[in-house]
Amino acid sequence: TIRPLLAGNWKMNGTRASLDQIKAIADGVKTPLSEKIDTLLCPPATLLYVATALCDDSPLAIGAQDCHQQVSGAHTGDISAEMIADCFGTHVIVGHSERRRNHAESDMLVRAKAQAAHDTGLIAIICIGETAYERNSGQTLDVLKRELIGSVPDGATAATTVIAYEPVWAIGTGVVPTSEDVEEAHAFMRAELIERFGKEGANMRILYGGSVSGANARSLLDIPHVNGVLVGGQSLKAADFLAIYAAF
Ligand code: 13P
Repeated sequence: TIRPLLAGNWKMNGTRASLDQIKAIADGVKTPLSEKIDTLLCPPATLLYVATALCDDSPLAIGAQDCHQQVSGAHTGDISAEMIADCFGTHVIVGHSERRRNHAESDMLVRAKAQAAHDTGLIAIICIGETAYERNSGQTLDVLKRELIGSVPDGATAATTVIAYEPVWAIGTGVVPTSEDVEEAHAFMRAELIERFGKEGANMRILYGGSVSGANARSLLDIPHVNGVLVGGQSLKAADFLAIYAAF
């Protein structure tokens, strides 16, 4: 069986004043449930180093929200995978739809970023998902196939790679796809991953993301091939994050 992952993405939210929430999450996941599931929080890069210190005695892992594809160099404002690892981060989200859209990130670039994460020993959480237009024009599975092929590096394994399915229209909207739609998408991605990666693809975690809350987490986790969730808004407050944790 696949070990589930609960991951939070703070996006561009959080200052030092939010460290009490990170501490509360780190403390809140110190329960027997953490023997069965992995937990991860991705605060903004400015808080990474302090956040990992707060998690010293907690199973909560800390990750970043993006990395540059190169190791170092003249890339003003960017952060390398090595810098994340240097702050004791263990994961990095790549290819989030907000970066694909706001920074025009292509599948090829996302793949290079995931490769950089792997080369540094970080777990890459590779995000894919269709827009409302793509769904309404019947292209959902084509988009997922294209993004999986384009964004996931050849050497990806179940240990180094997590896929996050985030329908763009479900992010921050309170709208969640039907269970049937989530099931169809996840079963499709699983088949694609098995075809390309064999046993590794069979064991790779596939998260659902988009308007996940304590109220809907359990029903999402009951869907076949949903191996965890990637949470935005409801990961900011410890009480909300821990309500989702309790749903596992
Ligand atoms: P919300 O949970 O706020 O919809 O965000 C989802 C997301 O984009 C996580 O990466």
